Amino acid sequence: MVIDEILAHNEQFVQQKTLPIIGHAPRKRMAVVTCMDCRLVTMFEQALGLERGDVLELRTAGATISRPERAGAASDLIRSLAGGIYLLGVREVAVIGHTQCGLSHSNPTALIASMQALGVDPDRLIREQRLEDTRGLVDWLGAFNDVHVNVREVVDVIRNSPFLPKIPVHGLVINIETGKLEMVDRG
Ligand SMILES: [Zn+2]
Repeated sequence: MVIDEILAHNEQFVQQKTLPIIGHAPRKRMAVVTCMDCRLVTMFEQALGLERGDVLELRTAGATISRPERAGAASDLIRSLAGGIYLLGVREVAVIGHTQCGLSHSNPTALIASMQALGVDPDRLIREQRLEDTRGLVDWLGAFNDVHVNVREVVDVIRNSPFLPKIPVHGLVINIETGKLEMVDRG
């Protein structure tokens, strides 16, 4: 399994590297929300000029908050931002979606087929989470059609959360091929 490769690498790593001791409060007092896409690994920080210790990085599938979680405080993203703001001094937030996101234009038929092939019953999820239908299932996953619209919506959810203070929240889109950032909504 891949975990064995990781453990073998890690043994080498700790023998060869000594990491500087730094604090857990982000130096730039910023939280960055982005997607879990594997193409953003390393490239993302390089494109933004971020070093270890600079910012909190929060990643969700699609850099989004799924529709059923947008109201209230149950969202893991809102919870993490609250921790960052109230406990770690964050005073600025950037939501950064990306081009070619796997959650844009997602195919409900493929999603359901994949769940069934892996032995998970999509109807049970729809029933128990009161998602009503396939459309609700796709909403639960956080799928969207337009990355710019999604970024604006997530920015609005964060800005309007009664559980978070009024601090600047920006919305951007990063080009996954070039690393270029586009400002969509400046906070
Ligand atoms: Zn993505």
